[in-house]
Amino acid sequence: MAKIKKKIKTITIDADKCNGCRACEIICSTFHATPQYSSINPARARIQVISHRLKNIWLPVFAGEHAPAECMGRDKYLIDGKEYEECSFCRASCPSRDFFKEPDSGLPLKCDMCESDPPLTKPKCVEKCLNNVLTYEEREEEVEEEVRLEDVEIGVESMIDKYGLQQVMDTVSRISMSKKG
Ligand code: SF4
Ligand code: SF4
Repeated sequence: MAKIKKKIKTITIDADKCNGCRACEIICSTFHATPQYSSINPARARIQVISHRLKNIWLPVFAGEHAPAECMGRDKYLIDGKEYEECSFCRASCPSRDFFKEPDSGLPLKCDMCESDPPLTKPKCVEKCLNNVLTYEEREEEVEEEVRLEDVEIGVESMIDKYGLQQVMDTVSRISMSKKG
């Protein structure tokens, strides 16, 4: 199978520097609002800060893949004397908690690294975090060509965020009809 260059984007989290200001949640929710910047609702953010004031825990977590069922096994972490709740490090939207679900529709949310046209130099949450908790990096890797399906998925999700699911479905249906005809 043919190899292609793929851009890998990563955000490294230095949780010890996080003070729980939640600027990352605010900017993510407004950047992805429709129309863009028209509203602020941290419940719509694709990053959530897990917090526990008494334990001094502030842990930014990015929304990952959707999990349709609750998992059977859960992990507890003890790091530097801080005990984290079982689901603290999990990136999935799943039935056992309200994180990473669009509040009106209940549809899962996933971080898209602020994909936009023209592209941003860095994701919005990274730009707005004044404590340098989040560090953005890009690198290139050689991958099998079929991995590009992930890019298609992210592209479609961005279109749905921007124009709404119904409009995207109507457009796909119209294009497929014109291809047949
Ligand atoms: S903007 Fe930075 S310091 Fe504030 S909550 Fe988010 S990660 Fe933590
Ligand atoms: S990278 Fe963009 S989409 Fe992902 S959490 Fe940060 S602001 Fe939201």
